[in-house]
Amino acid sequence: MKTDNATYVERDLAHVWHPCTQMKDHEHVPLIPVRRGEGAWLEDFEGKRYLDAISSWWVNLFGHANPRINAAVREQLERLEQVILAGFTHEPVIRLSEALTAVAPAGLTRCFYADNGSSAVEVAVKMSFHYWRNVGRGAKRRFITLANSYHGETLGALAVGNVELYKEIYQPLLMDVITVPSPDCYEREPGESWAEHSRRKFAHMEATLARHAHETAAVILEPLVQCAGGMRMYDPVYLQLLREACDRHQVHLIADEVAVGFGRTGTMFACEQAGIRPDLMCLSKGLTAGYLPLSAVLATEPIYAAFYDEYVKLNAFLHSHSFTGNPLACSAALACLDIFRTDRVLERNRALSAHLGERARTLADHPHVAEVRQHGMIVAAELVQDKAARRPYPWQQRRGLTIYRHALSRGVLLRPVGSAVYFMPPYVVTPEEIDLMVEVAREGIELATCA
Ligand code: PMP
Repeated sequence: MKTDNATYVERDLAHVWHPCTQMKDHEHVPLIPVRRGEGAWLEDFEGKRYLDAISSWWVNLFGHANPRINAAVREQLERLEQVILAGFTHEPVIRLSEALTAVAPAGLTRCFYADNGSSAVEVAVKMSFHYWRNVGRGAKRRFITLANSYHGETLGALAVGNVELYKEIYQPLLMDVITVPSPDCYEREPGESWAEHSRRKFAHMEATLARHAHETAAVILEPLVQCAGGMRMYDPVYLQLLREACDRHQVHLIADEVAVGFGRTGTMFACEQAGIRPDLMCLSKGLTAGYLPLSAVLATEPIYAAFYDEYVKLNAFLHSHSFTGNPLACSAALACLDIFRTDRVLERNRALSAHLGERARTLADHPHVAEVRQHGMIVAAELVQDKAARRPYPWQQRRGLTIYRHALSRGVLLRPVGSAVYFMPPYVVTPEEIDLMVEVAREGIELATCA
């Protein structure tokens, strides 16, 4: 059987329906069959290599085929691949729960597991609603969310998200949520600081909480970076104000750290930069260093206690997924946390993110780049048609696709989201590889904006 790229593409397109894809695009957009990965690089079946500048949808932390994580998963595989987590337990899930509660903001003492980010959001939403019901405040059943937020694709997660492209069509199927303007600092006034803008935007949240707290279970948000909403960023002061207001109004704060958790913004969790502890925290993606599907919702002791009762009262959280807390995934997560600890990853990332920011900021000189923004290891350049008016290109022109295709031809995986050309590399990336991805982005931006 032939093993060139074309053969795999043909076999794939005969049966595989790809995620987040208009399949007809593949009549002209190449599909890349990947044979192997190593470090920050992917390799196709003809030996062409691609620098994974987006960590394979923001999941990979320590490179593909990382020897330490491989060894941990292999060792676990010889012992136990999967077991039901209701009524049974296993060492990796016990150790992981101990480790997560130790690194998470103090007070998050309980871990509930699922197997992807959307499911974690579903769990957090259900848990918050159910908590209020268990404590006799069943009227608190609505959710407050930020404009331009993203929390996943399952119906509950989609409902509490706000990216129109993904949500609009399914609106008739979704629960009604309360949406407030985002603190997105791209929209700040000239001369206004991030903190001033974020603080000013908080007035909308405060007013909404004052009006709806009696019927609201929780506010859900992505701390510091609205990733799928185009890598829009805001100041930690917004989280501080929100924590204080949620306490005052007796509303839960759900931090969706699925994308920003595990060091992406410079701290282990983005919430740390505001010195706050959410009531519920959703984790996935980097949880297993991008190895295996796993998610966790961390909860406080009072939330856990509200479900702890005689069975017949039917107060328990009767939510489950078949692969909840899978041992192989937990062993990858344990190896990931071990690397964080022993390799002083957050410390080393400071130099890497400084280099990434410094290089990427040179893109801001381009006549079609409105700004370059950064939170730690996430850096984005905003593409615009008109720099002075900050007018975006019509989305139908798909200029990001031109950048994507150019980058592939140069051996770099860049995948602009909305108008943002961004970098979110694995932490094993080298300064030279950072230089390459920024250079290729510059060429792509030039090509995409020259006509
Ligand atoms: N929340 C956030 C903030 C995300 O970025 C994502 C995925 N991009 C999700 C939730 C959903 O995670 P998953 O794709 O694993 O369902």
